[in-house]
Amino acid sequence: MNTKDRIFSFELFPPKTEKGIANLREAVTTLNSRNPAFFSVTYGAGGSTQTNTFATVDWIKDQGIDVAPHLSCVGSTRDELLDILRRYASQGIDQIVALRGDLPSGAGRGAIGDLNHANELVALIRTHFDRAFRIEVAAYPEMHPQAPSFSRDLDNFRLKVEAGADSAITQYFYNADAYAAFVDACAKRGIDIPIVPGIMPITNFSNLVRFSDACGAEIPRWLRKRLEGYGDDTDAIRKLGTEVVTRLCRQLLDMGAPGLHFYTMNQAEPTLAVWDNLGLAGSLG
Ligand code: FAD
Repeated sequence: MNTKDRIFSFELFPPKTEKGIANLREAVTTLNSRNPAFFSVTYGAGGSTQTNTFATVDWIKDQGIDVAPHLSCVGSTRDELLDILRRYASQGIDQIVALRGDLPSGAGRGAIGDLNHANELVALIRTHFDRAFRIEVAAYPEMHPQAPSFSRDLDNFRLKVEAGADSAITQYFYNADAYAAFVDACAKRGIDIPIVPGIMPITNFSNLVRFSDACGAEIPRWLRKRLEGYGDDTDAIRKLGTEVVTRLCRQLLDMGAPGLHFYTMNQAEPTLAVWDNLGLAGSLG
């Protein structure tokens, strides 16, 4: 498979416990053997998760590995966001995944912060740091769950591109046609940044249903029914999941996707099972 010039990356979340930290370090070490372009680390609107993001980013950076911290603007003031960006710039970090984020349920209106949407965060970064950071933004081939329409969501996506985003990573999906239609609609609106599909390996049925309901990702009926039918048989779920996700990745790369971004959930094996099936091992260098 021709992977030249494509961007392959792995997403992590900041662990909270000693065991979680050890798992993450092991996963990063294993995944890094495949030579990805970068690892990204998610960032939440709550105080302790932010500290955990910094700790995770620091550790990855200390290993000499390229890292792109996520930064969400919801719940923060401009000054707080600029402080974080200065911290990253001083560490030599040159890539940010810029997001609006979601407030934890129960947070009051006072927690909303200075910026309302991710395009404002992209503009803030460009105003204060010019081109010091490469900026990734989120994209939604199956539409963001709060958007009033697909068309309005695309218009809003374009605002992030016009504000200076360099490329996008999508929410995960299991239908390659949704990605193709989204990329096509973007092209018709003159949006020409790379749109890298986000890939969620399948390891656990109930978690997948919960995440998908929350973020608006559709699990096709046939897949949902087959996974559901396996009950607690984790091996069968993983086996089918690996087949389905490998086929999806092949379709996406064949249709010209500019790379793949894996939501690893801090586990190396499910992502590597797909990666190695695709024949990506050793192809980057
Ligand atoms: P936006 O681009 O601001 O869009 C949010 C909604 O507002 C959409 O419905 C959009 O149509 C609308 N909108 C956008 N701009 C405007 C505007 N100017 N005026 C009016 N309406 C507008 N969440 C986290 O908390 N931490 C993370 O680390 C994280 N990482 C993610 C990584 C990826 C690759 C993806 C796809 C999502 C991630 N998320 C993360 C989830 C994300 O924060 C949520 O989906 C959130 O609800 C929207 O964030 P956004 O950056 O897409 O927001």
